[in-house]
Amino acid sequence: MQRRAILEELRRVDSHPTADEVYEMVRQRLPHISLGTVYRNLELLSRHGMIQKLEGGGQRRFDGFLENHYHVRCLRCGRVDDVEIEPIAAVDDVLQGLTEYEVVGYKLEFVGLCPQCRQKGQHAHRGLDATEAAEEQKSHELTRDTGTEEER
Ligand SMILES: [Zn+2]
Ligand SMILES: [Zn+2]
Repeated sequence: MQRRAILEELRRVDSHPTADEVYEMVRQRLPHISLGTVYRNLELLSRHGMIQKLEGGGQRRFDGFLENHYHVRCLRCGRVDDVEIEPIAAVDDVLQGLTEYEVVGYKLEFVGLCPQCRQKGQHAHRGLDATEAAEEQKSHELTRDTGTEEER
């Protein structure tokens, strides 16, 4: 019951929500569900191949759509969107004969800046003096080093 509600909510959106966001969605329907239950069921559903788990940029997001499709992830805010292109068939063949693995699939994720962050970046650069710009640069490098901190 809870698991089905989680699955249904996840399949209604294409925003690739985090577990916390799924929790907020499911809570509209099941006010007494706990965050732990949502976490557990998301893990279970992804282990059983009923949903996709997206791990990139230190964030764990979930996708209710299983068909082979590609994602683009914002390096600044972590937002993930679907990319509307046909699966690149040739990629499957690249590894043929080059590994002893039996390759069953691959993951491809584009990275960049989402429209909101692009806009924010432009405003910031116009208004910044040299010191602030240097500060901003430093925080960028920090983020790159840890790879997990969310940039704002
Ligand atoms: Zn962004
Ligand atoms: Zn997706």
